[in-house]
Amino acid sequence: MPLTFALVKTPSFSVQAEADIAASELRLRFSGSLDENADLRKVQSYCEGQKESVKALRVDLGEIRYLNSPGVRAWIQFLGRVQSFFHGCFFERLSENFLHSASSYSEMLGFSFNLLGLCEIPFYCAGCAERTTEWVEAAELGTLEELRLPARACGKCQAPLRLDDFERQFFRFLSRSPR
Ligand SMILES: [Zn+2]
Repeated sequence: MPLTFALVKTPSFSVQAEADIAASELRLRFSGSLDENADLRKVQSYCEGQKESVKALRVDLGEIRYLNSPGVRAWIQFLGRVQSFFHGCFFERLSENFLHSASSYSEMLGFSFNLLGLCEIPFYCAGCAERTTEWVEAAELGTLEELRLPARACGKCQAPLRLDDFERQFFRFLSRSPR
């Protein structure tokens, strides 16, 4: 049973930790707005204290709904430190807005060997024009050059869904260069 507790809890931003001592695993769930009010210092010092006992870091960014440049800067700084404590991390979920930023600033995903899990992809329906998002495994998507966008159907009218963005722009995060 993982031990779950709040590392940060404000009305606009929160970070929940799930520590599984037996599995030497730590999961951090971020939600809300990554902006100038998102304080990551406590999360960083907690992680630093866990670096001997934790072997795998899992990061859930599926509920990050807003980011701005102070937040992006703070995130890049935070990840730069924390990923070295644990020799990398696995991004379990990445929200649409987080991915928009990560396509502009590749440092937001850190080491090129950090693994990506579920990505929130924006779609619109060719039939009824409904906008929606779908969770797709990064491994399913392939590379930016050979993108394999899975076929999905509209939940309302069953017409095929199309990407609601420019393909080469939205999926730039897939072409992280090794550093
Ligand atoms: Zn539709």
